[in-house]
Order: sequence, then C-alpha cells, then structure tokens
Amino acid sequence: MNKQYDYLVIGAGLFGATFAFEATKRGKKVLVIDRRKHTGGNVYCENIEGINVHKYGAHIFHTSSKEIWDYVNQFADFNRYTNAPIANYNGEIYNLPFNMNTFNKLWGVVTPKEAMDKIDEQRTNAKIGRPSNLEEQAISLVGTDIYEKLIKGYTEKQWGRKATELPAFIIKRLPVRFNYDNNYFNDKYQGIPEGGYNKIIDKMLDGVDVKLNMDFFKHRETLESQTEKIVFTGMIDEYFNYKFGKLEYRSLRFENEILDEENYQGNAVVNYTDRETPYTRVIEHKHFEFGTQQKTVITKEYPVEWSAGDEPYYPINNDRNDQIYKLYKDLADKQGNIIFGGRLATYKYYDMHQVIAAALTAVEKEFVNR
Ligand code: UDP
Repeated sequence: MNKQYDYLVIGAGLFGATFAFEATKRGKKVLVIDRRKHTGGNVYCENIEGINVHKYGAHIFHTSSKEIWDYVNQFADFNRYTNAPIANYNGEIYNLPFNMNTFNKLWGVVTPKEAMDKIDEQRTNAKIGRPSNLEEQAISLVGTDIYEKLIKGYTEKQWGRKATELPAFIIKRLPVRFNYDNNYFNDKYQGIPEGGYNKIIDKMLDGVDVKLNMDFFKHRETLESQTEKIVFTGMIDEYFNYKFGKLEYRSLRFENEILDEENYQGNAVVNYTDRETPYTRVIEHKHFEFGTQQKTVITKEYPVEWSAGDEPYYPINNDRNDQIYKLYKDLADKQGNIIFGGRLATYKYYDMHQVIAAALTAVEKEFVNR
C-alpha cells in the first residue's frame, strides 16, 4: 500500500526546509515536523518593535559559491550588510577580524612588515612547534598579545574549556589579514535577507505540509508508518537512543533587552573578550538591516554547558565526541531509508551556506536519475 508521504522531514531548519522545497518541486509528498512552535530552526527571527531579532543568535549569510548565492536569492533579496565586529577588552576597543587596524591599535605598527615582524617575534618567543590545540594554533597565527587580549578569554567562555583542550580548527575560521579590511568574512557574497530569514523559510515551505509542536520521538511509530523515507536533522545520538553514549554540545542563553534609545552600541556585533564579563557578545539587531526605529533591541549571549532539554547549539568536536559520533555515523550509513543532515545530525560546526550546500548534495544524490 502506498504511504501518505514520500518524505518525513524532521526539523524545519535550513537543511530540512531546503530538502522539503526540492523534493516538493520534484512532485514528492512531504511532511515537515518540528518540536518548536515555529519553522526556521535557528535562523528564525522574532519581530520586536519592528526589528528582526535573531532569536537563536546572530546569523549573517556569507558564501563564496555563486550557485549557493543564486539559490538563496530566489527566496529573498539581500542587503549590503558586511559583518565588521568590534572587540571590547576591558573597555579597549579593537577591530576584528585581526587586521592592520587591530595591530596598529595594539602595537602602534603601521606597515604589514612591522606587524608580521611583531607576530614573528612573539611566535618565536613562545617556542611553538606544530600547533596541536587552539592555544598553540592561535599564538602561532597572531602572537601572544592578541591571544591574551582577544582570544583566550572569549574562547574559554564560549567553550567552557581551556584553550589547550580545544581543537585547533575552531580558530582557523577567523581570518588574519595584513591589510586594513574589517570585513569578518573572506567570502565573495554576504548580506542579510531583506525582511528577515523567515521569508526564506516561508517560501521554501510554501505548499508543504508542516506540523509544529510535534516531537518525533513521542509519535515515532505513527509517523514512521506514514512515510516511505525520513530526513532527520535532529541530534543523531538521540535518534539512536544514545546507544553509544551521549554526545556533548555547547548551549547558549540569550538575554534580550528593549532599550528606549536609538543606537546603543553603534555596531551589530560587539564581542567582550575578557574572561570576567559573563557574556561573549552583545548583538544590536537593528544594525543588520540599517534600522531607524526609535527603540533598539539588544541581546547578550551567555554560553552555557548543555544538559538534556537545553538547545544544543555547537557540537564539541574533541576526540571523545568525534569517536562516539563515528559510531553513530557508521550505523547511520547502514540505514536504508533515512537521510541524516544538518549541524546536529552530522555533528558539525556548519555555517548556513554549508548547510544549504549539504542539503542540495543530499537532494542530488536522492533524485539523480529518478
Ligand atoms: N574567537 C575569539 N575571539 C573573538 C571571536 C572569536 O577568540 O572575538 C574565537 C572563538 O574561539 C570562537 C571562534 O573564534 O569560538 C569562532 O568564532 P565565530 O565568531 O566565527 O563563531 P560563531 O560562534 O559566530 O559561530
């Protein structure tokens, strides 16, 4: 007997919505479910005082792929927002990512050569060979001063672990530039969708069956009986009932404030890089869309240890977790009728453009020659 749905997509975030859109376009019958009361996963925005508030943390779209850029532009126009965060270290202000503006403020150096010499000197004094953890990687990239003022405190707050216990790759995300360019990303394309991310998700899910406030694990048997195939974007360890142990995640707590002033901090993102300030950054959402509202909404972002029931934001890719994930992944590869995708199901530190690219790859694999 034919099932009611060709695909059950669990999780209405970017991976799930992209897959659902593409499958529907190919004439498939799709049901998307989500535990939350809204679609969009972590890109969801809430309108407060006429401002799109990034409810689950700041999302700035960037990619170097023309294909992905064109793909998202079919759902929304993007503005010219360029991320140029500021670091506040005990009241001292520095430009990010690390560039000549940062080096000049820190050391008074003016030319790239002077900056490189300074970093070389600090790197040599620190006697670091091949970097084996985040601390060593950071010092070998930018020297000890920047590490102490702009990286160590922020990183240890963010991850709740010593920088010596974290993988080096996390810090490789941050560009180091020997020019005066404050653009946080190296990518060719960047912007914020005009009207917010919800517009993209709504268009992707237009005409698709969606059930919100629906927990897959509470209705597993019924849901499985209604569908030919499953696309799962939740936590992979939960899907397999934690049989190889629990993976660790880092969670966040957001504290929103509506302020009766037009411009609180003059920038969308200000990072607090000292160890003592309990939050890592303050987001002033209106600046993502050049808002001119009379009020402003700010969000303080507090990193917290994850425990069951919290939102899992970041996978913690240390050796222990990566080994456990590998066991789940091997098991996942043996499942016939299920596709695992997105940050949680593949236990990867993905950006939005990477999630969309991964979903499109899954689509291609699924529908090639069909
Ligand atoms: N980081 C840092 N100082 C900063 C910003 C970032 O040391 O001011 C480090 C930190 O370890 C962080 C990593 O760089 O986890 C990646 O930062 P990014 O802002 O790219 O991460 P996001 O949390 O926005 O995904």
